[in-house]
Amino acid sequence: MTEILKINNLHVSVGETEILKGINLQINSGEVHVIMGSNGSGKSTLMNAIMANPVYQVTEGEILYKGEKINDWPTDKRARAGIFMSFQNPDAIAGVKLGDFLRQAKEQVSGQRPSILKFSKELNKEMESLKLDETYRDRYVNVGFSGGERKKSEILQLKILNPTLAMLDETDSGLDVDAVRIVSKAIKEYINEDKAVIIITHHRELLENIKADYVHVLKDGKILYTGDDSLMDKIEEKGYEWV
Ligand code: ADP
Ligand code: MG
Repeated sequence: MTEILKINNLHVSVGETEILKGINLQINSGEVHVIMGSNGSGKSTLMNAIMANPVYQVTEGEILYKGEKINDWPTDKRARAGIFMSFQNPDAIAGVKLGDFLRQAKEQVSGQRPSILKFSKELNKEMESLKLDETYRDRYVNVGFSGGERKKSEILQLKILNPTLAMLDETDSGLDVDAVRIVSKAIKEYINEDKAVIIITHHRELLENIKADYVHVLKDGKILYTGDDSLMDKIEEKGYEWV
């Protein structure tokens, strides 16, 4: 077990408004962390700050990745170092085929151009395991994809990039039963003793097959409470006011 991410007293603003007001968090390898909290509590802001989205300004505090302070690392450097964030509503990209998009993303993250043959094999294998028809590799990214298919293409990206720290923002994506199953299976396959997952979700079922090690409840830019996965049951039953 090694430390993957450590956040000390993190304050984040958008423009003049302070959104995160002193977050402390430690994530070790092999752990699944769930972030819950009502809409607008700052969950997505936290992930965006970890990914160095320039809209979100860190005004105070530290972000350490594998023991190294990364506050001034830009997004691409963090991605190359193994930090990944999925988006709630991935954009459709007309004119870019899914297979090409993934190959380019892989090249950016690994710094090497993967051989077409090797990449094709890997892609086929992962698409098969997601039951995503092989014709999808030649379809434009997310254009005309159903909710479940978008989710599959996002998970495909996770599998292909194989990051050390995966951050999945599932909040508002209106996951149907099928998508919930896809995501939960993918996380289960992905997590091992070298990796860590942070997932934003309101769906307890999403983590039915995977044990969440920690559940954090965010409120007004602070972590109000941290517990184990029984916290999810209580929140589902009693709502956030209870915390
Ligand atoms: P959550 O993901 O918990 O629903 P967010 O992190 O998206 O919450 O948002 C927290 C607060 O920060 C909200 O009040 C939201 O309006 C504000 N906020 C987040 N992103 C932006 C942005 N890009 N521009 C302006 N305000 C933002
Ligand atoms: Mg959000």
